[in-house]
Amino acid sequence: MGNTVSFTKDTYNKDEPIIIYGASVYGELAYLALERLGLTPTYFCDRSKSKKEYFGIGVINPDMLEDFREANILIASADFFHEIKQMLEEQRCLHLFDMAELLDMDLPREKMSNRALEMYANKRSYIDIVKNQSKGDLIFNRIQFVVTERCSLKCLDCSHLMQYYQQPQDFELCKYKEAFDCLVEQADYIAELRILGGEPFMNRDMGKVIAWYHDNRKIQSISVYTNGTIVPGEDILRELQKDNVKVHISNYGINEEQIKKTVKVFEEKNIEYFVRRYDSWQDTGSIAYRNYTLEEKKEIFGRCFERNGYAFLKGKLYRCPRVAHAMNLHAMPDVKEDYVDLLNWNGTKEELKKQLKSLQGRLWLEGCNYCGGPDNHTQSIPAARQISKPIVYETIDT
Ligand code: SF4
Repeated sequence: MGNTVSFTKDTYNKDEPIIIYGASVYGELAYLALERLGLTPTYFCDRSKSKKEYFGIGVINPDMLEDFREANILIASADFFHEIKQMLEEQRCLHLFDMAELLDMDLPREKMSNRALEMYANKRSYIDIVKNQSKGDLIFNRIQFVVTERCSLKCLDCSHLMQYYQQPQDFELCKYKEAFDCLVEQADYIAELRILGGEPFMNRDMGKVIAWYHDNRKIQSISVYTNGTIVPGEDILRELQKDNVKVHISNYGINEEQIKKTVKVFEEKNIEYFVRRYDSWQDTGSIAYRNYTLEEKKEIFGRCFERNGYAFLKGKLYRCPRVAHAMNLHAMPDVKEDYVDLLNWNGTKEELKKQLKSLQGRLWLEGCNYCGGPDNHTQSIPAARQISKPIVYETIDT
């Protein structure tokens, strides 16, 4: 299959409609870029059944693309770029476009949502993924390096399951460096290395991850996701000052004063940061076993926006952070197909690459049996409701 064509004023077919595939944040950027070119899409297309309109434009379901095989379809997603492209090719859609040139334009930041601003700052990831699209390389849009189980908040509904840790610990990062090196060696490209917890600044050694990988040519950018409650120490601040390092602060409206203090320090130190306000989350449900059928697991996984959220936890690479924590908590059995054990790898490099590609090709995880599935169909709940004690749960002998 061929590569997509970069959408410009000259490359699309003016007699056919323009459809933006992806009614989310990249869809917003695509819409703004088209607006700058004086163009309006006819439709957005998205798997979400609840979204009927986006920017006042109708949202159609992917099944409806059968009637638009000649349309100009613009793929507005980085995480799922390859999946969407393959699906459109299977549906015999003839004119597939990417946003690489559109993202290179000077887009109106004042019109962007906070999330779109973050993505626009990180547009290199999308562009590089597009460039590497048909080489069969091992590419990760993001890998989350989990540095701690500890968090400074106690959220009842944390989708990464922090509320279940009875005695949360920081991870000894040096112990897992070699395993992560092994992963980076096999990967051809990692668009974003995300440092994550719990609350990553709880682990005073977290700056080491930036120091180790900042200059690695395979890693495009490093970001840290924090709740903004902790001003990190000087050694971490020094690492955060490096170029291509960004801090993302989640503001749940319950720690505004602490966030202000953190932001003030970041301003003084010239650290690049974004603050995003969350009033609601999608309910991913408890850690309980759900006994889904295979078809149900495929369905829930296929709709999940975390399904490419690769998480590296204690030397293992999981397909999603929730499964990583569910296994770490012994809340589900140790299902070897759901991860690649880099710490204890004793095969050849070729076998490892094959194993990593096979993880990328998974269409469901056993871990999905312990999840309500974060997608646009699940119920919205207030973000970051606090509890006083960890939730007691049943552990499984593995
Ligand atoms: S549905 Fe599956 S892939 Fe998605 S968050 Fe839940 S466990 Fe992870």
